[in-house]
Amino acid sequence: MSRKAIETLCVQGGYTPGNGEPRQIPIIQSTTFKYDTSEDMGKLFDLEASGYFYSRLQNPTNDYVAAKICALEGGSAAMLTSSGQAANFFALFNIAGCGDHIVASSSIYGGTFNLIATTMAKMGVSASFVSPDCTEEELNAAFRENTKAVFGETIANPALTVLDIELFAKAAHAHGVPLIVDNTFATPVNCRPFEWGADIVTHSTTKYMDGHGVAVGGAVVDSGNFDWMANAGRFPGLCTPDESYHGIVYAEKFGREGAFITKCTSQLMRDLGSIQSPQSAFYLNLGLESLHVRVARHCENGQAVAEFLAAHPKVAAVNYCGLPGDRYHERAKKYLPKGSCGVVSFELKGGRQAAETFMKSLRLAAIETHVADARTCCLNPATSTHRQMTDEQLAQAGIPAGLVRISCGLEDAADLIADIRQALDRV
Ligand code: PLP
Repeated sequence: MSRKAIETLCVQGGYTPGNGEPRQIPIIQSTTFKYDTSEDMGKLFDLEASGYFYSRLQNPTNDYVAAKICALEGGSAAMLTSSGQAANFFALFNIAGCGDHIVASSSIYGGTFNLIATTMAKMGVSASFVSPDCTEEELNAAFRENTKAVFGETIANPALTVLDIELFAKAAHAHGVPLIVDNTFATPVNCRPFEWGADIVTHSTTKYMDGHGVAVGGAVVDSGNFDWMANAGRFPGLCTPDESYHGIVYAEKFGREGAFITKCTSQLMRDLGSIQSPQSAFYLNLGLESLHVRVARHCENGQAVAEFLAAHPKVAAVNYCGLPGDRYHERAKKYLPKGSCGVVSFELKGGRQAAETFMKSLRLAAIETHVADARTCCLNPATSTHRQMTDEQLAQAGIPAGLVRISCGLEDAADLIADIRQALDRV
């Protein structure tokens, strides 16, 4: 069958009911699954047969939704995780362990930065951070003998930088390692990183994919393109026998298409158990059914708000790659031709005080740490997530005290602008 358009995959991908079966994906709210013989179950434990035995590792509801996300990204295999944090950890830890090294863009979500720079460092995985705007030479210089992966975000939260995916993929492949891209903000509606050379994609499905702020979740998708066996010495976990599964060699038994996700499920999910609940997967699927419609509207609202802010005398600067003057405008034309996302950040001329007055004067937009759902929300890092830092420290970190991040929801653009205008009037 020919490949379906993204709109059709959002609605119908991942689950095709048979005659008389439920039209909507069933929620399989069961921890365990019944078998007639021990032999049947033994085959599952030996990875000789496919099927379900325990919902700490796998559940049919999750697999329908993972299959949809896999189709949307154009991948070969996918799995759901309990959060975006778990997705990024699983994607990295599946190939990088104690004594290994990761190259990562410095412009990534703070939680992912902490995961790599602090928690994974404690586990013996070191990292080198590079600017998303580094040259090819600077990027190549970050690699070491023990480098196992390169990591970046298509559109970074909150800096809104746009990753040069082709450049990062080229450097990763020249060093025999995969590129992992967190595609949360762009979603596969606006960018499909595999088409630009990325090998593995992750998502915080908590954001646009869910889109209604109801369920925390994550996803890992494999392109099936990376040749683990051609780099076998670097990836012993995939290319040498796994004694905890009777000596299976994942890359041999499951090939390029299946090795990464099978190992991630049967080893990491088995041992760490960070699976999404089937109920959350069901909610996620409801969100995915309208992803293509919602993302376009988020982008329209983001563009309208960014243009209004850019022309306002109390605004010092606006970050939004849809604006012609934005630093990432040209790169976005290549990677994000349909639009970027609904998140815009801007700096108020009056600094911290102005941001505080502005935020408390908003009527439609709520103050939240969240982004990327149907309701517009905003955050001033200086008075919330980064409130322990002085203005000087904030400036050094590239976060001006007057910076506000606004996540444009699905409301009417004119209403959003009217709310922002009246709040700016009070500053
Ligand atoms: N990746 C990105 C780009 C994010 O913005 C976030 C959260 O904001 C995460 C990962 C972590 O996702 P979660 O909050 O679902 O664990």
